[in-house]
Amino acid sequence: MATTDKAPAAPAHDLATIGVVGAGVMGVGVAQNLAQTGHRVLLLDLKDEVLDTARAQIRQNVRFHGMFSGTRGGPSPAEVLERITFTTDYAPFRDADFVVENATEKVAVKESIYPVLDAVCPPHAVFAANTSCISITRIGSWTGRPDRVLGMHFMNPVPLKPVVETIRGFHTSQHTVNTALRFLGQMGKEGIVVNDLPGFVSNRVLMITINEAVWEVQDGVASAEDIDRIFVTCFGHKMGPLATGDLIGLDTILHSLQILQESYGDPKFRPAPLLVKMVDAGLHGRKSGRGFFDYSVPGAAPAAA
Ligand code: NAD
Repeated sequence: MATTDKAPAAPAHDLATIGVVGAGVMGVGVAQNLAQTGHRVLLLDLKDEVLDTARAQIRQNVRFHGMFSGTRGGPSPAEVLERITFTTDYAPFRDADFVVENATEKVAVKESIYPVLDAVCPPHAVFAANTSCISITRIGSWTGRPDRVLGMHFMNPVPLKPVVETIRGFHTSQHTVNTALRFLGQMGKEGIVVNDLPGFVSNRVLMITINEAVWEVQDGVASAEDIDRIFVTCFGHKMGPLATGDLIGLDTILHSLQILQESYGDPKFRPAPLLVKMVDAGLHGRKSGRGFFDYSVPGAAPAAA
């Protein structure tokens, strides 16, 4: 069932109508960024409750980013929301020029989505998979248009991150890469194009680093707070690996490690049992209010959980 928000006409770009699948951490950020840069957005998730939360988050984030990112003077929260059609139905995707897919990082979930997109979207539409680790070549094989499928690994929070790791699958055409880079330009971003192997450049390194930090907590080498302090104060990183894991979502970290382990057949990606236990316990990081640190008190600096 589609919900009722109606998007206005007159978008500013030739890639005007953008389908966004998944309204979680990343889908919300991508939809917000697109609407703020003058696109008409179709934001799809499985349930109306998820879309209601997404709508509230976008309203709050537009206000917050306007205050702290120097984008004051951009469209108001109401104007941004007017450009977004919230839907649980794929029918509006018949108008999509470009799709960014941000569903849960599980092969079975993504595999169920692409044949539907392929059937509904117009032939010219490009599909960009915002995946942490899944092979873009494999995702392309679930469609009849692998030349028009590529990876776009956005960073979180999307509206504040200017660069996107852009992944060329085996069959991705140069025309598709050019279209994708133009699309990113329309969003106020730049792409760095890399080749396709699971985890690409960023997450092949990052996931193993976060996992190793979890092993350190599990082995009692140091507290979560001290592990992160070493990265921040000694290496000058903005965030330690455990706070980064909490920001990404510990469930997404676990799924990514499982995909990397399966893809490379290499035990170096074996998830720490503590990570599995925390995900089973519902400690998914910031989005659940608690991970390695506690985010349950709004506005307070996170404390070690
Ligand atoms: P999330 O768990 O916050 O959100 C995933 C959303 O997908 C949920 O709202 C869920 O209801 C929806 N979903 C599940 N099955 C679906 C289906 N069949 N059809 C439509 N929607 C469906 O996850 P996230 O952090 O937003 O991650 C989304 C994707 O982006 C993943 O592939 C992840 O690896 C990737 N990614 C995440 C980050 C990050 O920092 N969190 C960064 C870059 C890329």
